[in-house]
Amino acid sequence: MSLTRRTVLRASAAGAVAAAGITALKATPAAAARPDTGVSAYAFPLSAVTLLAGPFQANTGRTHSYLSFLDADRLLHMFRLNVGLPSSAAAMGGWETPTTELRGHSTGHVLTALAQGYANGGPAAFKTKGDYLVAELAKCQDRATAAGFNTGYLSAYPESFIDRVEARQSVWAPYYTLHKIMAGLLDMHLLAGNAQALTVLTRMAAWVKFRNDRLTQTQRQNMLDTEFGGMNEVLTNLYQLTADPNHLAAAQHFDHAEVFDPLASNVDALNNYHANTQIPKVLGAIREYHATGTTRYRDIAVNFWDIVTGRHSYAIGGNSNGEYFKAPGRIASELSDTTCECCNTYNMLKLTRQLFFTNPARTDYMDYYEKALYNHILGAQNPSSTHGFHCYYVPLRPGGIKTYSNDYNNWTCCHGTGMESNTKYADSIYFHSGDTLYVNLFIASVLTWPGRGMTVRQETSYPEAASTRLTITGSGAFTLRLRIPSWTSGAQIRLNGALQSVATTPGTYATMSRTWASGDVVDVTLPMSLTRESTPDNTAVQAVKYGPIVLSGVYGTNNLSTMPTLNPATIAATSTPLQFTATASTGAVTLLPFYKMHGQRYTVYWNVNTTTPPPAPFVAHYRFDETSGTTAADATGNGRTATLAGGAGWTTGRTGGAVNLNGTSAYVSLPAGILAGATACTVAAWVRLDAITSWSRLFDFGSGSTGSMFLTPRSSAGTARFAITTSGSGGEQRINAPAALPTGAWTHVAVTLSGTVGVLYVNGVEVARNAALTLRPADLGSTTQNWIGRSQYSGDPYLDGAVDGLRLYSRVLTAAEVADLNATGQ
Ligand SMILES: [Zn+2]
Repeated sequence: MSLTRRTVLRASAAGAVAAAGITALKATPAAAARPDTGVSAYAFPLSAVTLLAGPFQANTGRTHSYLSFLDADRLLHMFRLNVGLPSSAAAMGGWETPTTELRGHSTGHVLTALAQGYANGGPAAFKTKGDYLVAELAKCQDRATAAGFNTGYLSAYPESFIDRVEARQSVWAPYYTLHKIMAGLLDMHLLAGNAQALTVLTRMAAWVKFRNDRLTQTQRQNMLDTEFGGMNEVLTNLYQLTADPNHLAAAQHFDHAEVFDPLASNVDALNNYHANTQIPKVLGAIREYHATGTTRYRDIAVNFWDIVTGRHSYAIGGNSNGEYFKAPGRIASELSDTTCECCNTYNMLKLTRQLFFTNPARTDYMDYYEKALYNHILGAQNPSSTHGFHCYYVPLRPGGIKTYSNDYNNWTCCHGTGMESNTKYADSIYFHSGDTLYVNLFIASVLTWPGRGMTVRQETSYPEAASTRLTITGSGAFTLRLRIPSWTSGAQIRLNGALQSVATTPGTYATMSRTWASGDVVDVTLPMSLTRESTPDNTAVQAVKYGPIVLSGVYGTNNLSTMPTLNPATIAATSTPLQFTATASTGAVTLLPFYKMHGQRYTVYWNVNTTTPPPAPFVAHYRFDETSGTTAADATGNGRTATLAGGAGWTTGRTGGAVNLNGTSAYVSLPAGILAGATACTVAAWVRLDAITSWSRLFDFGSGSTGSMFLTPRSSAGTARFAITTSGSGGEQRINAPAALPTGAWTHVAVTLSGTVGVLYVNGVEVARNAALTLRPADLGSTTQNWIGRSQYSGDPYLDGAVDGLRLYSRVLTAAEVADLNATGQ
């Protein structure tokens, strides 16, 4: 039966239009009533992607086993008792005991997990169990008024909990729990074709609107101080599905002004806010943008993502300490046993996915997705548990150890989102847009492209191997867009064995447009290297990474009392992929991928007190697409947020937005030590000069006029010049261009330094070089005045114009890479 059913689902989804944003629409039985606004990339249905053997498939198998094991009547026990129906099932423990105020939330998670598992190749029994849960929940809902509740109410606790949250009396998080149930019902409808689930959900939604319409705006806003999950998200998804405006109105009752207002202005006010209370609200905001086209919702979501990934996230991609956001940049000072709640990253990945749909040109979205997926989520499930028991927190203090849930006596929020995460790994490997296929993740899998008669089989042991192979079956024309991660360097693409002259600039997509023939094989290599990531609040505290993978020190039963000091020069590869050895203050130590670290104590962060670490190859990338506020996000994910100063503003850019500098006082300040330790570098940017004055600066990185490196659009000699010095103007080593930079036109400028050679590029073409340089950025030390548009000399003019797409690397971009940046406007 299920095979027939899934075939029907697959066929209808292929023809379905739009509404790609609803997770559920992976295999929707009916096209959504409303298309999503502002979306230019789309998900494939879960039924279109099959995982092949590998760590993700292994995790999924354990969670599937658990879903098969679970007793539906135990999950229904308190729902039944709540409305006076009999239940002889054993009560559950943990967060689901008969007296825990969050009871019932796990039943919602199970509905979502069953629906996802069924849609992604799980057994028909998943649908049977989900259908049973929905039918029994419907009976409970039918009993609402008989039990003294309002029509449509469905919960495992009495409606008086809602009275309490409205009256601002103590209660845990009743709407949070209802959101999980509503989301589970929506998923059962969209992914498993259960019509009754939509009926039950619609009644719940009407009840939500009834309860909230009665309140004043002030009462509603006060109530929103209590965690309410993604009520705005699920109600917006329901609006997109049904086009009933009542659901959008109900969703907007949950727009929390106290959180949304600063985010709309790109102000980071997150310090001391409960982290996972806020992330789902922002997920709601991006869906409200997709539903309404109101750009303020989009800005809230984009700004939140930039703020959280840039200033509040650990090396594994997680956030929060003791569940709370801390002051911006506090990482080394916030290492504990309660860091990185798993739900937060589950929700950040959902948000990242929605933002990718909104702007697939931002490759940093999927770079973050990969980082958090591998280093946090993949490693949060216990591989020794046949039921996929899951972490709540992931401790990041030295000596921390992962601990896990159990069958019936835990039921934390993260146990719930863990079931969801581990049943949908297939949902973000591939995306599509018209004739374009995005390959974003390197996970062994087969994509059956609905409606095209083509499959793409991805075979890889990534990240243990730094490569992947795509084999096409069926023929047809489409554009393949392969994510070239920001952390790689020297990526290569081969088609049927022949090296392709395709630009593989890190932090872009490599593009291959052709008519594909059955049997075509694309081989991609993504070279990995060892890097270290400093924390923003203590540059000596660093995490070690190999490519995208965070490595951790193996400490067995050693409950470290202090952070070990690592000698980075001793890190050496072993014959086992991703396994290294090193010498630390504790002696010889083995480094393993953090996602494989289970059952023993570890450290992710080290003291590295030798010299300034070599920065990651891609140091910083400022897209200047914020449009408001006084900060500019670093799109590499390295967290090097820039600050606008002196009246710097925003304008239209070469691509997206740009920073606008007024020629009198405005500039952009980059973090201290931006290129510290670099023995090679590239600085590249787009500039559109409104006027040109001698000795203004495109950039000037230094600690005063004695030691700096800068580029001026026009020196007193009349041409553009790059110079680097450690002894003032008299000691400058220069690259002089043949002409000044033009005014009134977007111009791409790049400088590369390596060894004795410095090259200056204008609009993608080399215009000058100096092969007798002896200075490099490392000779400047940790520079403190790293400015865009401002000189170290106070008498020099400020830049008058706009700057966009500023990129800093600690390596030399090749001429082809520079040409590619110019050609693509990146
Ligand atoms: Zn949680």
